[in-house]
Amino acid sequence: MAVLLEPGRIELREEARPAPQAGEILVRVRAALTDGTDLKTYRRGHPQMPTPPRFGHEFAGDVAAVGEGVTAFASGDPVMCVHTAPCRACFWCAQGEEELCERLMSTMVLGAYADYVTLPRAVVEQNCFHKPADMSYREAAFLEPLSCVVHSVETARPRGSVAIVGDGAFGLLHALMLRERGLDAILIGRRAERLERARSYGFDPVDARATDVVRAVRERTGGRGADTAIECTGTQSAWEEAPSLVRRGGTVSLFGGLAAGSRVAFDASRLHYDEIRLFSPFHFTPRAVGGARNLLIERRFDVAPLITRTYPLGEIADAFARLDAGEGMKVCIEP
Ligand SMILES: [Zn+2]
Repeated sequence: MAVLLEPGRIELREEARPAPQAGEILVRVRAALTDGTDLKTYRRGHPQMPTPPRFGHEFAGDVAAVGEGVTAFASGDPVMCVHTAPCRACFWCAQGEEELCERLMSTMVLGAYADYVTLPRAVVEQNCFHKPADMSYREAAFLEPLSCVVHSVETARPRGSVAIVGDGAFGLLHALMLRERGLDAILIGRRAERLERARSYGFDPVDARATDVVRAVRERTGGRGADTAIECTGTQSAWEEAPSLVRRGGTVSLFGGLAAGSRVAFDASRLHYDEIRLFSPFHFTPRAVGGARNLLIERRFDVAPLITRTYPLGEIADAFARLDAGEGMKVCIEP
């Protein structure tokens, strides 16, 4: 099991194999991915995580043991899941806004960089599924990030042309999903390795290092600006620039979260007189998880090339040191 002792310092520890309680299942992790949140945790620690923090939340594996009363899964079943599930009892769950469930954080599964992880009853009952045999564990581990993207797209309801700010895995997953829906995805990035990956997927990304991004988006949208802009970098400057990428009447989705206490500034007259809609989607609902699962099962696009490298669990410290240095995009840890 990987333990984050302090920012930048990961240690591997032996841990007794946990026994699942009633309603829970124990999963033997076969593939765990890294994402921006894990890298942020590595760099800064995480205020909502216990010490010593277990981290890693995108994973797939095999059922190793089931708790009392679990009938949908049996030992040895390959499974795919996400790391949270709503309580189905709070005010927000009753409104169908399960992404805002007040108990979401308390049941969150963390610690996928380990041999075993325990899924609580809520996840077992709502957000855990049998993995198809023709889907690899690493592809199945995309269920969680893709659920975020499906929720984002369902909330933004993009039409026509969509400017996507950010060439990381979330930017590319948005671009792939929107292209699949017949929309014009204009991907904007500034890292050579990632721009190249976008090109290998057949996109013609805007290189923000060499181009005036606002002008480039206007040129591709009849001079008007995109119908929708989706911010996928989680940086203050990109949040503030995003409204300038859309046309009058356009929609801006601020997908990449900023640190608590961040303040952003927008041109108020642009928002009002050009009727720009701003919002910031968070997390996902079980419905979005179902949508993501269908996208993966139907193989609507290939997610595997988003993984830039694979490491055994024993090399996880090296994996994060390289990510921290800006190398690669999403890596796969195989315990
Ligand atoms: Zn709830």
